[in-house]
Amino acid sequence: MQTLTKDRFRYGKGIRLIDDSGVEYLDGVSGTFNLSLGYNHPHVVEKVQEQVGNLSHMSSTFTEPYVDEVLAHLVEYAPNGIDAGWMRDITGSTANECATKIAQKYTGANDIISLFLSHHGQTQFATGISGNAFRRRKFPNSAVPNSLHVPAPYCYRCPFNSSQPNCGFQCIEAISDQIEYASSGSIACMIIEPILGNGGNIIPPEGYFQRLRKLCDEHNMILIADEVQTGIGRTGYMFASELFDIKPDIITLAKGLGGIGVPVAAVIMQSRLDVLEKHEHSFTSGSNLISVTAAKSTLEVVSEPGFLDEVKLKGEILGDLLGELDMKYASIGEARGVGLMWGLEIVDQDGAPDVAKANAIIERAFSDQHLILRGSRYGFGNVVKVRPSLTVTEDEIAQIVDKLDAVLKSVG
Ligand code: PMP
Repeated sequence: MQTLTKDRFRYGKGIRLIDDSGVEYLDGVSGTFNLSLGYNHPHVVEKVQEQVGNLSHMSSTFTEPYVDEVLAHLVEYAPNGIDAGWMRDITGSTANECATKIAQKYTGANDIISLFLSHHGQTQFATGISGNAFRRRKFPNSAVPNSLHVPAPYCYRCPFNSSQPNCGFQCIEAISDQIEYASSGSIACMIIEPILGNGGNIIPPEGYFQRLRKLCDEHNMILIADEVQTGIGRTGYMFASELFDIKPDIITLAKGLGGIGVPVAAVIMQSRLDVLEKHEHSFTSGSNLISVTAAKSTLEVVSEPGFLDEVKLKGEILGDLLGELDMKYASIGEARGVGLMWGLEIVDQDGAPDVAKANAIIERAFSDQHLILRGSRYGFGNVVKVRPSLTVTEDEIAQIVDKLDAVLKSVG
């Protein structure tokens, strides 16, 4: 059972939270990275309240006109000819299951390839296809037999002890080896996060995704981009797939799509992959009108002219300030990120992952500075993440970094 140790938060606005005693906190990580528009964004609140008062739920037989509006908006921004969609999930985990089901049904093939350190959700299947084995150890049924895991393009700690630009992309070669020696010979898809979020904010090197796309084409594998964390403006682009020129066949979305934390998910794909029958993947609350309205109104805000340009600009400001901290403190091995998705790799004097220090930073940020940060429990556990809502102001970015500076000074 969860033990309550903290004061209850009563109210939130933007990136600010007020607790029971009236004390203000800054949320540096947008809730669970899902409050893309921050607490209580007025446009989304208004639209959701209006919808709740009119009609909050109908069977999915009747919600299509609402869902289609959201999907039309998403595909307008989508890369690589993605022009169809599915919106019967409310979590990223089952959206990813939807995508892998589509890939298996379309190709008639079995195997699913994913990266070490990846995180694709917490249902048993999503856990199984995620690349963090320790998550599966206590739950044997979540070992998906036809799931293969391949080394992550983690250049800071290259699994091959190599370095860019002359590494020859051994991490891509390793995928070919898995296909040749470990697969059943029938591979449905590869699922990737454009930035390995929970694995440690890992950004693949330039050229990685183009090589990956080529490999997928050679083996007729569907490429799924899990944009549950990176989607809906987080990187300064509606989809990180656009930023990195990934050319996925399917994109999965959740988290930020709900704007103010309303649970909602979507899967968008090329129409050739629109192969599921309604009864093959849908959930009771999957296209409930509260979630669909939150998604619609969130997209209205994110696609306002200039909104994403501002995110890019604010991302550069945040990156520059975190870069200064990186120069100042030896305990930061690397500050890496793009847009408003940043991570600090916390290291000991030998450069090894310093999980204890990363945890101390997060704890002290909360207790001493009233700044909420999160760690990366799925990777080595030593990356402290900074991901404010897309609506954060430049002044708030400076405040977050000042608080972080004070914490780093105190932990040494
Ligand atoms: N994919 C990624 C990249 C995620 O970060 C998460 C959640 N942390 C999921 C999928 C699962 O989403 P949900 O928690 O909504 O099931």
